Amino acid sequence: MSSTDVDPTTTREHGLTSAEVGAIGAQAASAKALSYSPYSKFRVGCALLCEDGKFVLGANIENASYPVGVCAERAALARACLEGQRKFRAIAVSTDISPPASPCGMCRQFIREFCDLSIPIFMWDNDGNYVVMTLDQLLPMSFGPEHLKKPDSLGQK
Ligand SMILES: [Zn+2]
Repeated sequence: MSSTDVDPTTTREHGLTSAEVGAIGAQAASAKALSYSPYSKFRVGCALLCEDGKFVLGANIENASYPVGVCAERAALARACLEGQRKFRAIAVSTDISPPASPCGMCRQFIREFCDLSIPIFMWDNDGNYVVMTLDQLLPMSFGPEHLKKPDSLGQK
């Protein structure tokens, strides 16, 4: 917060109140308990704040065949899609390290499919600190669904 003359309980950061920022951080931190990471021991929790105010949680799910594992962000988004959630206000990720870790490249692209470029991504460390960046900042000049021309627009049936 850069200004001291505003009420911190009503100040909005990327459209979220400070209470909502705290809540999504707490949700992401709690999601770490869902992590299945016997190989790396690197727990990642993710919380999605849906447009209707609900949170959907995800965690990294590893596999004995390492590349098969799934990151927390993609697990959360897949779960949200299956639950009928397609609109999100914010994303938070939480790890046990400091400084905070950011979503991997594959997850940034996965997020791109379902979220506006302006969506804030809060990245929390293990000490209650966070960095926030928009998807556009994390994935500049990105490729998204709107770039795929539909058959109709190509004059095909
Ligand atoms: Zn990832």
